[in-house]
Amino acid sequence: MRISVIIGHPDPGSFNHAIAEAAVDALEKNGHLVSYHDLYREEFDPILTGPEIPRGGAVDPAVESHCAEIAGADGIIIVHPNWWGQPPAILKGWVDRVMRPGVAYQFLEGDGGEGVPVGLLKARSALIFNTSNTPKEREMEAFGDPLDGLWKRCVFGLCGVSEVRRRTFSVVVTSTPEERRAWLVEVEDIVGSLYPPETGGEPLRQPAPGRDPPPTGSRGVAGARIGVVLGDITEMEVDAIVNAANPTLLGGGGVDGAIHEAAGPRLLEECRTLGGCPPGEARITKGYRLPAKFVIHTVGPVWHGGGRGEDGLLARAYSSSLSLAAERGAKTIAFPSISTGAYGFPLDRAARVAVGEIKRFLETNDTIEDVTIVCFSEKARGCYREALEKMG
Ligand code: ADP
Repeated sequence: MRISVIIGHPDPGSFNHAIAEAAVDALEKNGHLVSYHDLYREEFDPILTGPEIPRGGAVDPAVESHCAEIAGADGIIIVHPNWWGQPPAILKGWVDRVMRPGVAYQFLEGDGGEGVPVGLLKARSALIFNTSNTPKEREMEAFGDPLDGLWKRCVFGLCGVSEVRRRTFSVVVTSTPEERRAWLVEVEDIVGSLYPPETGGEPLRQPAPGRDPPPTGSRGVAGARIGVVLGDITEMEVDAIVNAANPTLLGGGGVDGAIHEAAGPRLLEECRTLGGCPPGEARITKGYRLPAKFVIHTVGPVWHGGGRGEDGLLARAYSSSLSLAAERGAKTIAFPSISTGAYGFPLDRAARVAVGEIKRFLETNDTIEDVTIVCFSEKARGCYREALEKMG
């Protein structure tokens, strides 16, 4: 695949550059063709001029070549710091000038520009890496993470890119070398999962779902002690909810971000004392502001095509979480669909592994009375219900 990597950070020694380099390494290792643009180094001119605005307007050759590359890219990776909830101006200018009509989007015939345009980019997926010095919980509470909507909806959503993943690393300024090393490993893992080796299977293309209504739906379709619901795991009134965390245990996107946001900052404080968690293992904390008494943080595998022990690691993430819950006397526990978001594990396969492992555990354990799998999309609910019906 042809992948464009765009970085907007003025300091070549920045952690942003380390992220971009790790991403490029992972792409090249997997046999992809990388087109790398360090916007500051190449002194990209971010100023969009009047004559350039209309479709067919006068575009300078440097911008023209950016346009051709981005239009032909199969995937796009953007790396930048969070400045004022926005990308640096140079990157905003790159969006202004390169994501132009006729290249990234177009209006339908007869539309004078007031309608909803159609996306033109060939890329079906994009990945955004951000760095921030604002703790996650303050970012959410005080600012609402404007970059998320900006990249996912305003830019890539409008230009036709259906799968947009985003990971923010924070707080960079106080991070330890070990944390930063772990973050770079995560960058490689996420890039490798979205853009696996050329000869490997297709990456999972699961659009990130929006928030679903509170838990509804049938319970105990098959196994009497296992239920599948559609909903938000942070609202579950159970003894323990499971978090699909990353190895740092210091918060992230997806369900991890939602759990930290709902539990409040003291959850992160306790997580800092745990020293991380390898894939397949689990750690326990209190639930703080959540209805659940405990949060069990487990780390699922990043999907690499299925040949790197992903099934076994995913099964272990479930069994480790259940063992820990039982040890603490939790009787009711809720799981999200581990590894099937940013980590790219195919949903139907993950559902079979999860249901199989939960059933196996419950056969020899009496402490846990009820396990709920909380799905965040109808598609996920369908997969888990099917797995449960088949194995029930
Ligand atoms: P991973 O990194 O393990 O793939 P993600 O958080 O990216 O973890 O995704 C795991 C699953 O959790 C995905 O199916 C995603 O849709 C789902 N999810 C996201 N937010 C919530 C939530 N609030 N409640 C339940 N599930 C959620």
